[in-house]
Amino acid sequence: MIDATHDIALESWVHSANGHHDFPIQNLPFGLFSPAGEAPRPGVAIGDHILELQALVAAGMLRDVPDDLETILATPPLRKSLRHQLSRLLSDATHSAAAEPYLHTARDCVVHLPVRVGDYTDFYVGIHHATKVGALFRPDNPLLPNYKHVPIGYHGRASSVRVSGEPVVRPRGQTKAQDAETPGFGPSRRLDFELELGVWVGPGNALGDPIAIADAPQHIGGFCLLNDWSARDFQAWEYQPLGPFLAKNFHTTVSAWIVTPEALAPFRMAPTPRPMGDPRPLPYLWAEDDQAYGGLSINLEVSLRTAKMRAQNLAPVVISRSHTRHMYWTVAQILTHHASNGCNLQPGDLLGTGTLSGPDSASSGSLLELSDGGKSPIILPGNETRTFLEDGDEIILSARAAADGFAPIGFGDCRATILAARG
Ligand code: CA
Repeated sequence: MIDATHDIALESWVHSANGHHDFPIQNLPFGLFSPAGEAPRPGVAIGDHILELQALVAAGMLRDVPDDLETILATPPLRKSLRHQLSRLLSDATHSAAAEPYLHTARDCVVHLPVRVGDYTDFYVGIHHATKVGALFRPDNPLLPNYKHVPIGYHGRASSVRVSGEPVVRPRGQTKAQDAETPGFGPSRRLDFELELGVWVGPGNALGDPIAIADAPQHIGGFCLLNDWSARDFQAWEYQPLGPFLAKNFHTTVSAWIVTPEALAPFRMAPTPRPMGDPRPLPYLWAEDDQAYGGLSINLEVSLRTAKMRAQNLAPVVISRSHTRHMYWTVAQILTHHASNGCNLQPGDLLGTGTLSGPDSASSGSLLELSDGGKSPIILPGNETRTFLEDGDEIILSARAAADGFAPIGFGDCRATILAARG
C-alpha cells in the first residue's frame, strides 16, 4: 500500500504545497469546485491551489478522468492510477508551465458537495461519547447492553447534507422541559455540534449480497470530516422509541475534499484494544487484517468563533482535541455490519462514525459533553461563555493524520456558521 506517492521527501513545483497543513503532494484529495462564475468540475487540492482535472486530459497531460467523482470513488484502480499520474505531474517541474493554466487559487473558487449523496447513515462508535451522553439521558444505564456486540447506527437524511461553508439555519421543533406538563414549539435552545469522521462508500454491493469484512476495505472510497448538528432539546423529547429524527436531519456538514484510502495508507494502525472482559466481535465482524490495520491515526480538533470574536478580530479558539483511536468499531466493521443483512450500499453513500470524543472533557466531541449537559459553561476569549451554540457562532472541525516517517496530511475545513431560526 505504501509507494513512491507517500515519500516524505517528495515536493511539488506548487510551492504552497510543500509543508502545507492539509494538502501536501502526499495527499491529493479529489473534490468538485468552480472557478469564479464558472461551472462545477472535478479537481485535486494541492497546497493553496486546485488543479482542474479534465482540462489536463484535453491538454494530453492526464488520462482516464471521469466527469464525476462517483466514478472515481467506485473504481479503485482508476483512483490509484489518477493518484500516481497526479503525483508525477505535480512533482516534476518540467510539467509546471503546461499545467499552470489549470491551477486555480483555492480561495477564489467555490467548492461543492463532491458527490450526490445517495444515502446517509450515522453510527455511534465513539464509546466515550456513548457512555457520557448515555449517562446524561439515562444516569442508571449509560451504555445499553447491545453496544459492545452490535455497531449501533440509524439512517440519517441525505437531502440536508451540505458542504463546508454553507450556514446552518437554527431549527424549530418540539420540546418539553422535564418539569413542564406539555410540550412547546420553537427555535432550539440547545443546538450542538458533533465531531465525526465521514466515510464515502466506493464500490457498492448488490441487494441481498453482504460484504465480507475481509473485502470491506475495497468498498471504502474516501474520507471526510462530518459535523452532525444536533438539537439536544428536540432529541431528549423525541428519541424514544425510534431514535434520532428532527433533532438531527435539519443539516449535516461535510468537508469538501475526498481524502482517499490510498492517501491514508501510512496512517493505518491497530484499533485500540478492547478492555479486558469485553466480548469478542462475532465472526462476521472479525478479520485479522482489520485488527492489525483497521484503525486510523488522525488527530481531530474543534474550534469555535462567536460573532463577537469575529467583530473583535479574535481567532477561532480550539475547544476540543480528540483522535480517531477512540472508535470502538472500525470503519470496516461498520461498513460490513451495514451490508450484513443484504442492504445494498452504493457509490457516494455517506457513513458517519458517530461523535469521536476522548475520555476526558478536553477531548469531548460535542458541547453536550463539554458543558456537562448545559450545567458548566465553557469560557471563551473576550469573557463570553457557552453551553450551547448561539446565532452567529461558527464551528470549524479540522483533522491531521500523522505517523512517524511520513508527511502529515489534513482534510481541509469542515465549517459552518449558525443563522437565526426562520419562520
Ligand atoms: Ca452523530
